[in-house]
Amino acid sequence: SRAFHPQDSVISVGKGVSVGGKKLAVIAGPCSIETPEQIEGVAKSVAAAGAAMLRGGAFKPRTSPYSFQGLKDKGLDMLCAAGKKANLPVVTEIMSADKLPLFLSDDVDVIQIGARNMQNFDLLKAVGKTNKTVLLKRGLSATIEEWLMSAEYIMAEGNHNVILCERGIRTFETYTRNTLDLSAVLAVKRQSHLPIIVDPSHATGKRWMVADLARAAVAAGADGLMIEVHNDPDNAWCDGAQSITPAMFAELMDSLRQLAPIV
Ligand code: PEP
Ligand code: MN
Repeated sequence: SRAFHPQDSVISVGKGVSVGGKKLAVIAGPCSIETPEQIEGVAKSVAAAGAAMLRGGAFKPRTSPYSFQGLKDKGLDMLCAAGKKANLPVVTEIMSADKLPLFLSDDVDVIQIGARNMQNFDLLKAVGKTNKTVLLKRGLSATIEEWLMSAEYIMAEGNHNVILCERGIRTFETYTRNTLDLSAVLAVKRQSHLPIIVDPSHATGKRWMVADLARAAVAAGADGLMIEVHNDPDNAWCDGAQSITPAMFAELMDSLRQLAPIV
């Protein structure tokens, strides 16, 4: 907490990129890695637009067991190759500790713990024993206190490289996929030294809301953003409705430059 660590933590993630501090770090990429052409194409366009990191899921936590579950190990290889080509650090989700050796490869820069695993305490402890940067998403129905306690689980094991990500919470509202809690950015900033980024894609589930809420998150003090970008959103294998095109992403980045310096 701030009481023990008054100054903001700045987490360096490799390839000269850091999260926290004065500059905005924007993570962009598809929900899921689909093909080498897809991930390399998206990587190239988001890099050109000024993204700091490339995201892509290889192990997907899907609501239905019959939905696409991700390309797994092969997807991870495709993501790492695309990140190298575009010179972007990569962020990707881990679902269970038994895959940790794969994620500890030098080619993976940030390990994501998804909303559904925010209170998977054994997984938190396992990544806490490593020195990889962890992106910890807020649980679907987690309070800010519970979320910060999950970050403590990681840090208590010795790994202090934790970035928080607000991705919307469950409320009675059904118009949006989740309800983006921008007040969490302020609450976390007041209570914790950890950097916090915002994911307006999963928060809303709606492509047309992403850019405006990304800017709102920056106005609220977020240290960065995570944005789903797909070369062909209408045919995406996962989360197409909330994915923006590379052109929309480039336009968003231009508008963000008016608000804050970008990493
Ligand atoms: C994701 O980032 O791909 C994802 C599954 O997000 P969340 O865990 O926030 O639902
Ligand atoms: Mn997604």
